[in-house]
Amino acid sequence: MSTLPIACHECDLLLHKAEVPDARGVMLCPRCGAELCRVGPDNLQFLLALTCTALILLLLANLFPVVGLNIQGHHVDTTVFGAARQLWRDDTPIVAGLLVATTVLVPLVELSVLAWLLFPLCSGRRPVAFVPLFRSLQLARPWAMVEVFILGVLVSLVKLSHMADVLLGTAIWCFGGLMLVLAVLSTAFDHRALWQAWEEARV
Ligand SMILES: [Zn+2]
Repeated sequence: MSTLPIACHECDLLLHKAEVPDARGVMLCPRCGAELCRVGPDNLQFLLALTCTALILLLLANLFPVVGLNIQGHHVDTTVFGAARQLWRDDTPIVAGLLVATTVLVPLVELSVLAWLLFPLCSGRRPVAFVPLFRSLQLARPWAMVEVFILGVLVSLVKLSHMADVLLGTAIWCFGGLMLVLAVLSTAFDHRALWQAWEEARV
């Protein structure tokens, strides 16, 4: 158990001795009852399961069409990369780059790094390059904007529905599921639990 002091984020109580986690591995502030952190392998395995689920959903979301349109008997559909290619052809390469970076590349890198860190930690081993990768994870997080993409697509679909029959593609459901999984992952993610697992793991 780590002996580093912990400051409660609700009441600022500084705990000089590590509190004992309850049966769920949750450490609570003795003054206000706020959750300080989650410890133990269960939390890491839960994070790993969410990470793998998110990676699968991200893969499926980029394989299948996001949306399809029926215009006067003609059917067209597009994937994220298809939309980015069209934006590139329409002389908006910055928008195309931002679309691919914030919707595909950054979430892919973030989830891959998280899986790289969690797989060894769950089996009690230290991941290679833990410190720089963990820091890069913190830097990349604000640039993953799947929820902004979903919002943009939904607004566009509402506007397009007046001009054509709009068909939701498989990818839009995958992106919706991905958004929910990432929200749960973000809530359950506790950087202190990863550092503690790293401290206790064998080299
Ligand atoms: Zn407190």
